[in-house]
Amino acid sequence: GQKEPTDINALAEEYLRLSYHGSRAKDKSFYAKLETHFDKDLPKLEVVPQDIGRVLLNLYNNAFYAVQYKKSKTEDESYQPVVQVSTQWKEKGLELRIRDNGCGIPENIRHKILQPFFTTKPTGQGTGLGLSLSYDIITKGHLGEIKLDSKEGEYTEFIIMLPMQVKVL
Ligand code: ADP
Ligand code: MG
Repeated sequence: GQKEPTDINALAEEYLRLSYHGSRAKDKSFYAKLETHFDKDLPKLEVVPQDIGRVLLNLYNNAFYAVQYKKSKTEDESYQPVVQVSTQWKEKGLELRIRDNGCGIPENIRHKILQPFFTTKPTGQGTGLGLSLSYDIITKGHLGEIKLDSKEGEYTEFIIMLPMQVKVL
């Protein structure tokens, strides 16, 4: 794909719906509260929309899986799955956050999650390629950063930084 000026808010919203509907198609009882906060002053960014779309789809699918997994394990009947997405324009560029209140990522596996084929999901449910591909797309493809914050059993947040690109002549 080619880089083109892209409305990241629109992309983030479109893929959130796609992922949510996909999760509901697999499990009719699936529900999560969606909370979005999109920065209206975001400039268009030079990105490959299909690639950023794949990153978003993977992070959203992971988030929905994590809340669903927690719901299936928790004894807390009042547990409410929530997935939060936000964009914010910063000095360095765009900051995009995807946060879920699902199962979290145990500290002892955190160093492995970027490795190709590492998955904790049952056979057929995960390839273990999503995060390694996402990492390459963000860092190599767009010179951005991807950071993780998580607490086992409580939440996971992925923070993506996409720099404002300067065209080199
Ligand atoms: P896959 O989704 O196919 O397992 P990924 O590369 O997308 O592969 O993720 C690798 C692993 O990282 C997952 O199997 C899971 O253990 C962990 N993980 C990723 N995202 C989350 C999340 N939002 N909450 C909890 N665990 C996660
Ligand atoms: Mg995945």
